[in-house]
Amino acid sequence: MSDRNLCLWCEEPVTPSGVQQSPIPSQGADGSWELRLQHRECAARAILGGLNHLQGRCSCCGGTEPPDPPALSRRQAALAAFAWIQEHTVPPIPLCDPRRVRNLTNNFR
Ligand SMILES: [Zn+2]
Ligand SMILES: [Zn+2]
Repeated sequence: MSDRNLCLWCEEPVTPSGVQQSPIPSQGADGSWELRLQHRECAARAILGGLNHLQGRCSCCGGTEPPDPPALSRRQAALAAFAWIQEHTVPPIPLCDPRRVRNLTNNFR
């Protein structure tokens, strides 16, 4: 069983103020299911793609780059992708109040 306090995407610790959303069902290597948390930036990255993908430079878009800039950690790459998304989305994606999200999270415990 993996550490539930580590982000499902980047595997760095998730603090209550950094939680994106309600826990996500995730299947572990042993086949068992558990609820995992994600940083909000990592959740956005997981759905929308990495910075190079967003900018049309990755191999799935006809380019030669990997989806995320290789020099960055998974967390850093998620932050970079999220910043790009915020900058290029009009209006910017509304962010949930972390206190509200935490209450939601508690319902699953
Ligand atoms: Zn993360
Ligand atoms: Zn792509």
